[in-house]
Formats: sequence, structure tokens, C-alpha cells
Amino acid sequence: MANVNAALLTGNEAIAAGAYKAGVHVATGYPGTPSSEILPYLARFNNAIVNWSINEKTALEIAIGASIGYKRSMFTTKHVGLNVASDPLMTLAITGVRGGIAVITADDPAMHSSQNEQDNRFYSKFAKVPMFEPSDSNECFEFTCEAFEISERFDTPVIIRTTTRISHSKSIVRTPPAYLPNMNSNLENENNSYPKPKEKTYIKDIEKFVMAPVYARKRHKIAIERLKKLQEFSNNSGINNIEYNSLDFGIITSGISYQYVKEIAPFASVLKLSFSYPIPDLLIKEFVKKVKSVIIVEELEPFIQDEISSIGINLRGKEIFNRFGELTPDMVKEGLINAGFIKKYDNKSSDKLQGKGGSSKLDSLLEKLPQRLPALCSGCPHTSVFYALKKLKVPVMGDIGCYTLGALPPLNAMDSCISMGLAFGAAQGLSLSNSSPKKIAGIMGDSTFFHSGITSLIDAKYNNACFTAIILDNSTTAMTGGQDHPGTGKNLSSGQVVSNKIDIKRVVEGIGIDEIYIIDPYNYNAVYKTLKKALSSKNLNVIITKRPCILYPCKIDLGKKFKILEGCNGCDLCMQIGCPSILNSENFLDNNKPIPFIDSSCIGCSICKDICIFNFIEEIKS
Ligand code: SF4
Ligand code: SF4
Repeated sequence: MANVNAALLTGNEAIAAGAYKAGVHVATGYPGTPSSEILPYLARFNNAIVNWSINEKTALEIAIGASIGYKRSMFTTKHVGLNVASDPLMTLAITGVRGGIAVITADDPAMHSSQNEQDNRFYSKFAKVPMFEPSDSNECFEFTCEAFEISERFDTPVIIRTTTRISHSKSIVRTPPAYLPNMNSNLENENNSYPKPKEKTYIKDIEKFVMAPVYARKRHKIAIERLKKLQEFSNNSGINNIEYNSLDFGIITSGISYQYVKEIAPFASVLKLSFSYPIPDLLIKEFVKKVKSVIIVEELEPFIQDEISSIGINLRGKEIFNRFGELTPDMVKEGLINAGFIKKYDNKSSDKLQGKGGSSKLDSLLEKLPQRLPALCSGCPHTSVFYALKKLKVPVMGDIGCYTLGALPPLNAMDSCISMGLAFGAAQGLSLSNSSPKKIAGIMGDSTFFHSGITSLIDAKYNNACFTAIILDNSTTAMTGGQDHPGTGKNLSSGQVVSNKIDIKRVVEGIGIDEIYIIDPYNYNAVYKTLKKALSSKNLNVIITKRPCILYPCKIDLGKKFKILEGCNGCDLCMQIGCPSILNSENFLDNNKPIPFIDSSCIGCSICKDICIFNFIEEIKS
């Protein structure tokens, strides 16, 4: 590796590098965009124990155990995953730590890949734990190192909150190469600088770690007192800093919003909150006293605005900027114009700064672009199941994963998708409502089943529920980039097949469910018949469809190609499965129906051949 002191890293890679530098011993999480790359990057260092967990709650519990054993640990999740882990987090906040714990939560403003748009800064206030908000990759690196120090110094977990732009954008990280992994191999870094964790002998401390009411009451008081010390640190550490420029115009900001502020209003004084909870009250008072007019620029909720208001200072923020979606430089510019700041104070500003309505210009350009709905991949093994469910016209309670696309046209075969692992619980609930004349289906993927679907299936069996539970087993966590889970039998640290691969069928049998069907989703007729049979059964039953994802761990091409024969009547049936390889040509039949064709992206799954009841689709013989 070249002897440089800087590297271009994404925020996620920088967090991993920071954790490595800090000597993290155990790192766990559950994949979720935009946080998914942190653990695979850290796994390249071959020093820490890095693994995916079955869900976020379990992941945090493992991190807590390592901390009780005096080792530094890290837990990573996307924003919604912290809801799953919030139970242990709330109590960890009062037990405190031994080895430092960094909790990484990656928010997704604008919901690029999420079912909601929550602002996880509130978790730090809710749990009474400190929070870092990095603005670039270098801060991701430095703040992650710092988080472990602060965690141990103040006896608290520390939240590092990023957003999609920070997690996925690349910027310079200033660090010696010794703290970067060897990107070309999985072998141990030649320049290994991993600090060996101190070995300590385990000592029992029930007053600290057994949160029976008698001890929990004491610890809660300690956590509240800790906040005062953290606020002092927030005021004095230099992590929150003021950049004085014009004393007429000031902005208080954090995270990615800081970058937009610096781009649009370089003339403004800025108070950048990097250690943004607890807020530095004295620093804020000093800034507001010196600078004549101050506004707050923050993405999503008025978190900083509310905190500042709680110390008796009322500043404008969400009166000017959206409370939803991502901020953009154009939106910041528009807000500053609306607030009267740019025109009034930026005399020598360029046309760029004085320009009007950048975001509305962008919106009108976007409106002109052709719209295309997201679709399952060509040859996706879930296609036939959704097509059959649509044909059978049954209510389908769905779940989180790429198969959520089964809800969209042309498949239209899913009625709900609320949160991860919810489908079987919702199917049980809907069946109890007696509002559906048909039997109900619940559907989820293999990773989701292990995440939290297992518990609701157990509950369904226990309570004599009657629905058809479908597990789409494609042997990966596809939506987030193909991560492993207990059903794949591989773990992240070694990347090797391990012996204790968990068999879904045996799990389902263990729950006591007798009616189990295992089917190949590439056999559409079998899929349809099995679904029909299962949905007419009076028992809770489970269908497991087994076919690997066509993308992970490597792109599948079955080596076959299909074509549509001359004579096709344009009935549109094959178009109804939504395979991106089947397109309408520019040729029309006499009755004005377009004639479809299959392009070269076909992977040869043969589902469309089964769907065409007129036999106008056949394999191309070479
Ligand atoms: S389903 Fe068959 S007949 Fe109908 S449009 Fe497709 S190829 Fe033609
Ligand atoms: S065989 Fe048909 S359904 Fe399968 S990938 Fe090719 S075009 Fe799509």
C-alpha cells in the first residue's frame, strides 16, 4: 500500500476504519441501507470479530455482552432497525458500559430505500445518550474513534448518526495507511496497527448490570446526572465549533446540512454541532449574542430547534425549511432567499447564489423524464408466486425486502408492507378480523423469517391461526446487497460455509406445523396448484419456495434464451409477470395490440413459457 496519509472513503468505510483504529473487538448488526457496508469493510481488517446478526436487537445484545467483558464493541443499523434494538438500548443507557460501545444509526431522509423517514436524533434524547453527527468521511473516521473514548469516559453508549449522503458519499479521510484495510484481498493488513484490547478478568457487578427495580432506579438517576457532564463536554471539547465570518448573519447546523450551508452561504458565521446531543448551551448563547440574525438549517425534524428553544432561545428553522425529505443545496439557497439573508447580505454574490427556485427547476426537469416503476429482476424466482397469488385473488400481508415490489403493477399481489417480520402477525390479525371471505396469505423472505418472522409463526401456531405462510427462500438478504444469514450457513468474518446452517423446513417442523410444501418457483404450474391447495386447507400451513437470488452471490444465467413466436395474439399475459426482459415491440397486430418480444437480458427461467397458455413462447434452440 502506498505511503500516503489520506484516502478517499465513503462515510461507511470511514466508520469501519475508525472502529479499527479504536481497537473494536466485536462488531455486529443487521443489513439495512444505508448502513450495510460498514461491517463488510471492517471484516477486511481480520482483527475484530465481525458478524451479521439475526436482527438488530440480538446484534446490540451481543455488543452489550462484549462490553460487559471489557471489550470495545460496535452495533450498526439503519434508522428503522434502531426501533428493533430500542429495548436493549434504553436499558443499556442506564447500565452504562465497560468496554466502549458505539451505536451507528444511518437515517434515510427522502426514503430512498425505506418504509418511513424517522429522525433518529430523537433516540439520543429519548435514551439520554450522547450523539455525534459527522458531516463528511473524515469526521466519520475521527468521531468513531472518539466515540469509544467518550463511551468509556462517561460510562455510556454513544450514538453516531449518519444519513444516506454521509454514508455513501466519498471524501478524504486523513489517516496513515496503517489504519486502512488492504482493499485488494481479505488477508490481514500488512501494516497492521490494530491496538490489542486490554485483557481484564471478568468481575460480577449486579448493581451495574442487573436492572431489577432496586438497582435500575439508582442507575437512572446516574444517567440523568451524566447528561450534565456531557453538556459541559459538548461546550468545551472543541468538537462543536464556531466559524465566525459575517456577524450579521449566522447559521446553526449539523451533519450534511453543514456542507450545503458552506456551499451556499460561505460568508455566514456558522455554529456546527458535531456533538449534537446534549447541545452545547453556552456555545449557542455565545453565538447568538455575537451574531445579529441566526437561523437553524437542519434536515428532517426540528431537533436542534427544539433543543435550543428549551434553553429559552427562539430561532427560525422549520418555518423556512421542509420537515420532510432530504435537504439539497438548492433548497438551502431558496430558504436563505426566503429568509431574506442572501439578497440582503451577500452583495457580491454570484448569479448562482441569487438564482431563483433551483429545486423547482429540478422538479420540473424530473417531471419531464419518463417514469418507470421499479420491477423484480429478469428471472426473479419470486415472480411466479406473486403472479399466482394475483390470479387467486387472496389478501396478501407482505414484508420488507425486494419482493415488496410484488405490490406494484403489473403484479399488484401484496396488500400490506409495514415493517420487517410483520407479515405473519398481520396475516393472523387479518384472519381474526373475519373481514376477508378468502383465506389469507402472509409472505416474507428467508432473511426476514430469521430476523423476526419466526416469532410470529410460533405465535400463529400457538393461537391456532389459519393462514398460508409463504417463505421465499432465495438464500440471501437480497435487498441490501446479498448478505448472509443463518440459512446460508456462512458468516461475515470467515466468508466460509459453516457447519451449523439452519434449515428453514426443520425450524417450521420444530414449531409443530405439519402441512409444509417445498416448491421450485420456476415451475409456475406447481406454484399455482400448491398455493390453491394450501389456501383451501383448514390448517395453518407453510410454503417454502427455493431458488437462489439471480444476483447473489453471483449473477445467474441458466444458459437458456426464450423467444416469442410469430402468431402471438398480443393477449398481454406474459407482460403481466413484469419481467423486464419482456418488452412491447413497435410492431402491432391488426387489432392494434402491440407484439411483445424478449430481449437478450433473459436468463432463461422459463416462467413466461408457462404463463403463455397459447404456447407462443419457446426456448431458442441453438
Ligand atoms: S402470453 Fe403468449 S400470446 Fe399472450 S402476448 Fe405473451 S406470447 Fe403472446
Ligand atoms: S424466461 Fe421469460 S420470464 Fe424468465 S427471464 Fe426470460 S423472459 Fe423473463
